[in-house]
Amino acid sequence: MRLENEIAFVTGSARGIGREIAETFAREGALVIISDIKLEDCQATAAEIAAKGYRADAFACNVTLSQDVDKTIDAIIEKHGRIDILVNNAGITRDGLFLRMKEDDWDAVINVNLKGTFNACKSVSRVMLKARKGKIINIGSVIGVMGNAGQANYAASKAGVIALAKSLAREFASRNITVNAVAPGYIKTAMTDKLSDEVKNKILEAVPLGRMGLPQDVANVCLFLASKEADYITGQTVLVDGGMVTY
Ligand code: NDP
Repeated sequence: MRLENEIAFVTGSARGIGREIAETFAREGALVIISDIKLEDCQATAAEIAAKGYRADAFACNVTLSQDVDKTIDAIIEKHGRIDILVNNAGITRDGLFLRMKEDDWDAVINVNLKGTFNACKSVSRVMLKARKGKIINIGSVIGVMGNAGQANYAASKAGVIALAKSLAREFASRNITVNAVAPGYIKTAMTDKLSDEVKNKILEAVPLGRMGLPQDVANVCLFLASKEADYITGQTVLVDGGMVTY
């Protein structure tokens, strides 16, 4: 049990990679807080995890709304007392070539991916700073490292959460809080299922390991970074991309 008695808050965890991260943490002994926009979705996922014999609770939270985030964190603290691990996973795409990109598409992606991560870090770090203990993991993307035509908004938001992790790592290190980023490549979820076969095949040509990643591939790295085994690692970005980017 690598996360025995830890309490983990994972944003956007009703489905996809966030859900896999939460379930992986729960299997390792953590109480996981499933959080997403719709309460019914959070409750359904938490119930499925609990039905497997693990510990999960559900709190709705739209990460774009700072007051909503603060209220949620206060409610979690009131009920469970602490938050030891924060995973900033909630994320969206609104792809389009830059010249045709609407301001709304830019704002929506920056608001969820970057501002949402800021809101959750701001609220949860209050608790962690007092406790002098914490692990924060920002889910970035390989696109935030290498850029991508048609994803300027997404790339900028993900480069932002990676840089935010590096900065907070320096600010929070003296309080025993580590902050790292995980940058997945192309992972099989609802977000990538909507890509055409042609795009998927093109992507696979750029992946040395020759396959799309699985949510579990990302969750495994998050588990390591959330565990005591990673106590001396902070400000880092771990790419989980089948070898697409090496540096
Ligand atoms: P999904 O779209 O499957 O899941 C994203 C989750 O975030 C959904 O549950 C969604 O809720 C939730 N969400 C969206 N907006 C908000 C919000 N404002 N507040 C709270 N929750 C919200 O995506 P993935 O699982 O594929 O992606 C998870 C993370 O991994 C994202 O940050 C993504 O950018 C990143 N990533 C994914 C890659 C991939 O290949 N799949 C590659 C690289 C990075 P709802 O269902 O209600 O919309």
